[in-house]
Amino acid sequence: MSNSDFLLQNLNIAQRQAVSAPLAHTLVLAGAGSGKTRVLIQRMAWLIHTERQSPFQLLAVTFTNKAAKEMQRRLQQVLNIKPQALWVGTFHGIAHRLLRRHYAQAHLPAGFQILDNQEQYNMVRRVLKHTNLDEKEWPPRQVQSHINQQKEGGFYPEQVETGNGYHSQTLLKLYHHYHSLCQQSGLLDFADLLLRAYLLWRDNPELLAQYQQRFAHVLVDEFQDINPMQYRWLKLLAQHNRVFAVGDDDQSIYGWRGADLAHIHRFQQDFQPNQLVKLEQNYRSTGMILAAANGLIAQNRQRLGKNLWTQAGEGAPIYLYQAYNDLDEAGFIADKLQACATQYGGYQHCAVLYRVNAQSRVLEEALLKRNIPYRIYGGLRFYERAEIKDALAYLRLLAHVDDDLAYERVVNFPPRGIGKTTVETVRAHARRHGCSLWQATTALLGNAGLSARAGQALAKFQQLIQNLKQRDLTLDELAQTVIEQTGLIAYYQKKRGEKEEMRLENLAELVRACHQFSAQYEEDLPLLSAFLTHTVLEAGEAGQGTVQGVQLMTLHIAKGLEFPLVFLCGLEENLFPHQLALAELNGLEEERRLCYVGITRAMRQLYLSYAQARCLHGMESHSRPSRFISEIPIGVLEPVHLSSAHQTVYRNHNP
Ligand code: ATP
Ligand code: MG
Repeated sequence: MSNSDFLLQNLNIAQRQAVSAPLAHTLVLAGAGSGKTRVLIQRMAWLIHTERQSPFQLLAVTFTNKAAKEMQRRLQQVLNIKPQALWVGTFHGIAHRLLRRHYAQAHLPAGFQILDNQEQYNMVRRVLKHTNLDEKEWPPRQVQSHINQQKEGGFYPEQVETGNGYHSQTLLKLYHHYHSLCQQSGLLDFADLLLRAYLLWRDNPELLAQYQQRFAHVLVDEFQDINPMQYRWLKLLAQHNRVFAVGDDDQSIYGWRGADLAHIHRFQQDFQPNQLVKLEQNYRSTGMILAAANGLIAQNRQRLGKNLWTQAGEGAPIYLYQAYNDLDEAGFIADKLQACATQYGGYQHCAVLYRVNAQSRVLEEALLKRNIPYRIYGGLRFYERAEIKDALAYLRLLAHVDDDLAYERVVNFPPRGIGKTTVETVRAHARRHGCSLWQATTALLGNAGLSARAGQALAKFQQLIQNLKQRDLTLDELAQTVIEQTGLIAYYQKKRGEKEEMRLENLAELVRACHQFSAQYEEDLPLLSAFLTHTVLEAGEAGQGTVQGVQLMTLHIAKGLEFPLVFLCGLEENLFPHQLALAELNGLEEERRLCYVGITRAMRQLYLSYAQARCLHGMESHSRPSRFISEIPIGVLEPVHLSSAHQTVYRNHNP
């Protein structure tokens, strides 16, 4: 065996061809579970080991932080290098890393912060208020998505070309206002991260050249979900470098966020890949699971077309459970898990997948009732809980006092006698002078522009922040000091309810999270800012705690993962396919791809289920079974029959 043959072991011929492809652009286009990610990781090892490329010359981009961590872990196994040394991450994560390094060239303050979706929404509402526009006429969500679309297309307000119509002029005005508020507060939204990183390179040719030289190899997993901005960014970087792109057109599920399948075709034109490798052998799932997946996806018209096969044998049929209602469905899933998880290696190897986060609550309750451990990804994430957001807002002010959103959140929380009128005076001053709320506060305190009482309360608040800023503490000490000295802990202690107990526990957990983060942090970027970014960018996928339990997540998050036992629930018309998607052009095909992603996560056993009645967002609805069920070939699905006694038990849960 030659020195590098070990890297090609356990690969089939097509996979080997991809891993050992010549140093040129390469495209691997293949179905689910055919080893794309495995090939990408082996390719990195091959480049380092066989082609003698330095690990620092590699940039690997993947879609989720979970996937990035997995890549780092596996590379470390093969090559024994520190994962932090590698540039492996999501597009957003990498863009952020670049912006922190070169913040000045990107025209950003050193302590810039990231807005999550909800905060962006709040910011839009603030803009509407400033401009005296009615939210009914200008729904904030629509304005928000308009702004994001512009950014994804590469346009800041100055570049937007618009007609003279009132509607488009107003949207532009709102965008302008939003943008200047973000600028002033040093805040970036998700779309900003990508656009800024793109402009940073485009407008600084020397810097770009430095990175072009540095990253001789760029590897992209889940290429089908790349959006226009990411594609442009990649093109800019990879002019002289080699791109190794891996994707599956049948798994493109982010059309609603601007991802465009056409990029696979464009890549072929723009980069003229030297090799186009197709993989069709699936190593993940049983024949039955693949038959279901193949049958379903064959209903889509927009496909490059491929059929997965396996040597693994037929396996068990796919079971379909028709539930009386959502409680019954959850009860069924929890009972099954309890009965057979050990067969699949324990709870942590089992997953429950659903279309929308709101479905998780009933499932959680059913699991809790049976004492089944679980981990939930997404949903109301730890870092999105109100008390955690409050503590983080203080930390954000410490990183960057001009962060207006953070200021607004905590200026009078816990209550410290700063009334609405006072805050309105500060806002008005800030608007008049185009400055941040913090600066406005300083100015008003300086020129005695406030009543004595208001002035005193505000001065105390400023003093509090300034004192905290001056402390020289470790990150977890800082967090602890913040929750104590700002009065957050005392506020919840005074209330003494069960809810408050939980909030106090969460605050303590935050301090632990800070500790854990600092212990693992090895980069040379400022720790506090890095942590704050982590809470926005990585919070959703990190899950909570370290419980080894059943994994609950939406289908979108499940991409790229695999589990021996999978439950795919809520297969009802209007939920899955989702009614909003049905209203969109190509929406149904995207939903079907999402279902294909779900089915192909299963390795050995898949359960499908639907409920005849469901309570979601406080409303009960009755639905027909999803059309996707009928698109699965006959002979693959088998209904689950429960004894009538069993069904009665579930029915009794129904209020
Ligand atoms: P997805 O489209 O879902 O992201 P993928 O194409 O990236 O899937 P992988 O996750 O790389 O597929 O591989 C699926 C499973 O098959 C993994 O468990 C992987 O280890 C295994 N596998 C891949 N290739 C081989 C092989 N040649 N021999 C044995 N197992 C393999
Ligand atoms: Mg993969």
